[in-house]
Amino acid sequence: MKVTGIRTIRLPEHPQMLWLQVMTDEGLTGLGETCLGPATVEAHLHETVAPYLIGQDPGRLAAHRRGLYDVFVGYEGTGAETRGNSATDVALWDIAGQAAGLPVTSLLGGRTRDSIRIYNTCAGARYGRGNRGALKASDRATAGDRGLPQDEPGRYEDLQAAIERPGELARDLLDQGISGMKIWPFDQYAAATGGHDIRPEDLRAGVRIIEQIRDAVGDAIDVHLELHAVWHLPAAIRIAKAVEPFNPYWFEDAVKAHDLEAAARFAASTTVPAAMGETLAGRWTFRRLMETGAARIIMFDIGWVGGLSEASAIAALAESYELPIAPHDCTGPVVLTASAHLSTSAPNAMVQETVRAYYRGWYGDIVTTLPVIEHGQIAPPPGPGLGTALRPELLTRPDALIRTTTAADLG
Ligand SMILES: [Mg+2]
Repeated sequence: MKVTGIRTIRLPEHPQMLWLQVMTDEGLTGLGETCLGPATVEAHLHETVAPYLIGQDPGRLAAHRRGLYDVFVGYEGTGAETRGNSATDVALWDIAGQAAGLPVTSLLGGRTRDSIRIYNTCAGARYGRGNRGALKASDRATAGDRGLPQDEPGRYEDLQAAIERPGELARDLLDQGISGMKIWPFDQYAAATGGHDIRPEDLRAGVRIIEQIRDAVGDAIDVHLELHAVWHLPAAIRIAKAVEPFNPYWFEDAVKAHDLEAAARFAASTTVPAAMGETLAGRWTFRRLMETGAARIIMFDIGWVGGLSEASAIAALAESYELPIAPHDCTGPVVLTASAHLSTSAPNAMVQETVRAYYRGWYGDIVTTLPVIEHGQIAPPPGPGLGTALRPELLTRPDALIRTTTAADLG
């Protein structure tokens, strides 16, 4: 089998998303996905990945993982090259599974569990769409900054609910069998001080959100506190100390992961496990994350970290450090599907992130099949490869931004 071309798909209504199809001469098509800066990633895919991949055997996963990595610049971090390579890697795993007639889970070593517990990230239906261009961390601060929730009211406006009626939201999640919720009640206060300080009244307001959850449901729900790396070390430690009495499940990205020693000082300052890694890529960086003790829960996003090849290697590395993994999804349906394959295979997977506003919302507009999510558990869809595909009607949408590179284009 040979790769005959690649196709990228962007949709104006999802200005941060990019989908990738890798086509072959045997009619199999692999699907990948990444997000943030999609036009830049698209350029990398057509300029660099297509000339490398076209004409090659797609099944040589290990060779292509290394081949895409062995570039002079752009190999480290979650830049556009790594995001594009991540989408490519996932598409190649999809092809390999389809060619073998096996789900990706089987290629990863098979299931260690039939399904895994999920938690709900309390975003709304339009969270994360933002505008094109750089998405600053501080833009995450409020609902309105990210184009929601008032402009598309729906059943799962969980970001708004997390601020206005957190206890009711916790009960609603528990009613659906979901026993974990991720919230970011402090983000909105970071901009006032550049994340260097938090006013006592703001600290109390954020803590009050968590207190209301505990008042409503006690310890029945895990509260994952997302800090989105909008804080610097002293403020992050102050927030952690204020929240600790309410027994949060984890503190996520308390500070930026560019200084793992600072992150390690944060982790050492609190009894609550620190979760980190979704902004990082590559096994070498994750080895440092583990060596420094900056994280007790290893997160990554398969669409940013280097794909399934890198994510599965990092999962194994984490196991050797006695650490669990918790794959990220607040991105797209293909990454969630790939994550479901890995989370049901990796023995040290602890919990899988999901966003019900997405998987009960727009995810179904993009792909033919979604992971099976019920009773607070997720399992990958049945069928070979990823078990899903891009909905064919997306390719004929007049507003779709589609670019294809084949051997003929390479000249
Ligand atoms: Mg996060």
